[in-house]
Amino acid sequence: MKNLFIDMDNTAFDFTSQYLHYHYLYTGNRVIMGNEDYDFFESLGMTDENKYSYLRMEGFFETMPPMDNMVEVVNHIHHNTDFYIVFVSNAVVPEAPTGKIKCLESLFSWFHIEHNFISMGDKHLLAPGVIIDDNPYVLNNSKGHHYTIAFDHPWNRSIEVDARVYQWNDRIIDILNQIQEGK
Ligand SMILES: [Mg+2]
Repeated sequence: MKNLFIDMDNTAFDFTSQYLHYHYLYTGNRVIMGNEDYDFFESLGMTDENKYSYLRMEGFFETMPPMDNMVEVVNHIHHNTDFYIVFVSNAVVPEAPTGKIKCLESLFSWFHIEHNFISMGDKHLLAPGVIIDDNPYVLNNSKGHHYTIAFDHPWNRSIEVDARVYQWNDRIIDILNQIQEGK
């Protein structure tokens, strides 16, 4: 049994879309993102003081939209492979873990907070496993410790990783099967 660590924001869930949706609700500005940086808040005119304000609002994390096919693929991995699935969240606001847990509970019947959720920043300190993440710093720091799978975004394209995926589909399952078989 190997550990599979799945990042939530912009890997399993579309954090950016949710952020832009809240930005529109509260400012009336509809923004379409281009090739933004990992830290895109400044490009929306958000300051260091208020950039996390939407994240503290009721429902922000609880209603974050899953990436296309994420639920189906993760359910498949859960039922058909020998990976222990853990969602890992780099929580920058105290409200985030509660909302994220509610979100995961509503999507996965097998999800259990004690077994399948960790809130921490330094993901390279986790026991070695397989990590799917979009954060360039996490991917870099995990090199040689975790098997690193980048969930492709403009901000992580220059990072060297063990594998790169562009969406939740069979390719992720194939990569995990190959890891299990030691290929
Ligand atoms: Mg992320």
